[in-house]
This record gives sequence, C-alpha cells and structure tokens, in this order.
Amino acid sequence: MTEFETEAVVLRTIRYSEADNIVTLLSPGHGRLSAIAKGARRQKSRLGGRLQPAVVARLTLHRGRGELCGLRGAVVVEPHAALWHESYRLLAAGAVLESAAKIIPVDDESASAYTLIRRTLALLTTSSPRPAPPRLDAVVLASRLKLLVISGLMPRLGGCVACGALEDLVAFSAVQGGALCRSCGGGEPLSPAAFTALAHLLGSPLADAGELEQGTADEIERVLTLVLSEHLGVRLRSASPI
Ligand SMILES: [Zn+2]
Repeated sequence: MTEFETEAVVLRTIRYSEADNIVTLLSPGHGRLSAIAKGARRQKSRLGGRLQPAVVARLTLHRGRGELCGLRGAVVVEPHAALWHESYRLLAAGAVLESAAKIIPVDDESASAYTLIRRTLALLTTSSPRPAPPRLDAVVLASRLKLLVISGLMPRLGGCVACGALEDLVAFSAVQGGALCRSCGGGEPLSPAAFTALAHLLGSPLADAGELEQGTADEIERVLTLVLSEHLGVRLRSASPI
C-alpha cells in the first residue's frame, strides 16, 4: 500500500453511505481516479464540503489493492467559487465535468486533459449567461471536442472518409469515423456552418471559442453524442437525447 500526493480536480462526488462519499478525480499524473472520502458527510469532517465538483485540491491519497483509493487529506487550491454565483456557469461546468468523467481513460497519465479542464473551468467562472442552454456554450462544446482529440476519438472532419475529397462535405458518420462528401452520400447531414464551427473550435484556443448559433451548436452536440455512443457506448446525461 502506498500513500501519494497529487493535485486534482473533482469531477464528481457521490454519496456512498451514511457517512462516506466517493469522489471521481482528474489528476495531471495519475489520470482519472476514484477515492473514498470516509466520514466526509459528517458535520465535523475535515474533508466534508470541500470536495465539491470543480474544486481543485492538493490531495493525500492511499492506494490499496483495488482501484479505489482512500482519501486522507485535502487542501483546496482553487475552489472556482464564481461558478456557484450563476446557475448558467454551474450547469456549463457540470456538462464539461460529466464529459471528462466519461471520456478520459482511467490510466491516462498525460497532463493534457487536466490542463484542458482547468482552463475550461477558469473560463467558465467569468462567463455570462446566454439564451441557449449552458451545455451548448461554445466553451463547453470546444472543451468536449478537445477531450475527444486527447482521447484519440476525434473523427476525421477535414475530408471525406470514404473517397478523400476535401470539398462538398455534407454529412458525418460516427461509424465510418468522419465526414462524407455529397457523391459518397450516407451518414447524417451536417451543415457547412457546422463544419466551419467544428474546425474553428478544434483549431483555436478555448478562450477564442466565441459564440455559436444555436442550430450550429445543436449539430455539434449531435456529432459529440454520436461519437461517444459509437466508440464508448456512453450517453451524457447533460446532452439532449438522440
Ligand atoms: Zn466522398
């Protein structure tokens, strides 16, 4: 059994028993981890209340034989308190954290996903509510797309996966792994605006994600939903149903 320290962002906290919580964490060196916070639900707990989703903390963890670590101590590094000032921000952050919890592999040791999630949360702490649902916010969709890239799941969108054509791309197929041109046909229709927006979100820093028309944002979310369902068999609760 080994004890180790790591910084991590809390992706999810679930009640495990009367007194304990299980937290899902993302750490820059250990990937996605689950840890049991014993006694975290007790009023006087040193851990209680601290480890809410989106909180970044310096943690002392204990790894036993199973996959579940024991949580021994936590010092909050960045609470992202401004997320709680505005429900739009909280829902947007929730959508990103749910994606991270489902997409990032357990054994991912790279720091890329961690860096991406930290940047996303920092940006969302200052975002202003928009009329569209928070899950369709350009920063949220850009972050989800970048998570697919990091996890090696991003389909090929720059050319037709069937014939290689670079122009007249009109559809998308998760099964075939990317865009389809008009002559090849098949897949699900995808508008030119959606292709342009996908290229922009993937090619730009998160801070430059900008604004999306709701119709375009809906199309991008659908691409994400189809990819996740095809490759990981997962559905995001925060996304709209297929
Ligand atoms: Zn083609």
